Amino acid sequence: MSSKKNGRIYRTVKFRLVLWYATLFTVVSVAAFFLVYVTLNYSFQNIIDESLRSMFKDVEDHYRSEGSVGLHNAIAEKAKNIGEDRVFFRLLSSRKEVLDASDMSAWRWINFQSVAPGPVSKGRNDYYQTLSMPDRPYSVRVISRWLDDSRFLQIGHTLEEDEKFIEQYRQISGIAVAVSLLCGVLTGWFVARRAMSGVERVTETAVRIQSGDLTHRVPLRNEGQEIDNLALAFNDMLERIQALVTGLKEVTSNIAHDLRSPITRIRGMAETTLTGEESLEDYRETAGMIIEESDRLVGIINTMLEIAATDSGATHFQMDEVDVADVVQEAYELFEPVAEDSGVSLSVDCPDGAILVRGDIRRLQRVFATLLDNAIKYTLPGGTVLISAKHNQDKVSISVVDSGVGISKDELPHIFERFYRSDRSRSTPGSGLGLSLARSFVQAHGGEITVASTPGQGSTFTVLLPILT
Ligand code: ADP
Repeated sequence: MSSKKNGRIYRTVKFRLVLWYATLFTVVSVAAFFLVYVTLNYSFQNIIDESLRSMFKDVEDHYRSEGSVGLHNAIAEKAKNIGEDRVFFRLLSSRKEVLDASDMSAWRWINFQSVAPGPVSKGRNDYYQTLSMPDRPYSVRVISRWLDDSRFLQIGHTLEEDEKFIEQYRQISGIAVAVSLLCGVLTGWFVARRAMSGVERVTETAVRIQSGDLTHRVPLRNEGQEIDNLALAFNDMLERIQALVTGLKEVTSNIAHDLRSPITRIRGMAETTLTGEESLEDYRETAGMIIEESDRLVGIINTMLEIAATDSGATHFQMDEVDVADVVQEAYELFEPVAEDSGVSLSVDCPDGAILVRGDIRRLQRVFATLLDNAIKYTLPGGTVLISAKHNQDKVSISVVDSGVGISKDELPHIFERFYRSDRSRSTPGSGLGLSLARSFVQAHGGEITVASTPGQGSTFTVLLPILT
């Protein structure tokens, strides 16, 4: 698609794959045909040389047993049988004078000057040559060898049949290489189309998403593990982005709602102070309320920033050895008067001895304070709240159990979300950020926080932290 867009087809993977396949097919087929060609040439030459040697032996035998007459008859007969235009025989003296020969009329184009064996001193080695004949399309293979009496015999054989065959083979090879090139292009195009279709679908989906349709997903077509994995990873990423965008929208609307109310209240108070004729005492009271609301606003904004910074890993944690048992005990002591004021019975159950974790004591204190604060806040007078700690070798679990109003099944998955407050808790003070912050802190400690609750019977919040070993 982008290739069409920017008009540079040679930059596309498809084009490159086609080129690769075409080149590969062509190179392989040319190499294969060349190998066969060389082998054919070599075999033909071996065959013809073998036949020349055998003819030589025959003629030489006649010469040895019957002398010049026997040789003359033998070469005349052989030339006639094989064909005088296909084979020739020549007997020469050491000074290269022709002493006898078959009918040479078909061979008059050969430059016989160059046809000679090596010096006699070099022994009876065969001397082979392939000669091209001017004005004749085919070559001739010639064997020359010294005889016993310092004469030498030459036998030549046309290569017409072999060369015709090789020529046909070359033509067929040319066609085959062209066909192979075409196959390479087609295969490359087919492979590229198949391999790229998944990628193109991902691109298509990305383009649709750019136009605002976040619900679109890459269809899975079982085209191979890698493509499926790409599509799955892309779909997962989209799922996450969609969740983030939805979350962002929710947070934005929550912020708008949760910050607007206090600001409106502050404005209302300031307006009443401006327009009404109040006593100094009233003005002071209103100013105090404005400061209180403003502090609440600043608190909400600071908490929001803290959650965002913790979640993104930007917060600096002062990690030390912390005795969780101590922190639990202190939290209990801190909240005992608050519980008493609310008519709730608060108790603690912590094993003797230190339970050490690696953590930021200030942040851990805030986590337990949030849980205790909520437990007391959402428990009616006469109810109970218990904070307890127990541990095994790896983990310590700190639970805050209350006999309060509980949380409905529908609300349970949302209570850790930023600004989430159940309808029932709207009458109680709070920002809906406490549990979000607590969860961010616990996760930053490598732990987790869970909740179990039965409406009307109470809730249990549990924090699991890794123990320092
Ligand atoms: P806040 O308490 O300020 O509303 P939190 O983030 O601490 O905000 O809690 C979010 C929501 O979870 C609360 O509004 C409340 O509905 C619910 N919740 C938290 N703790 C408890 C609890 N112990 N019992 C019942 N509901 C709870």
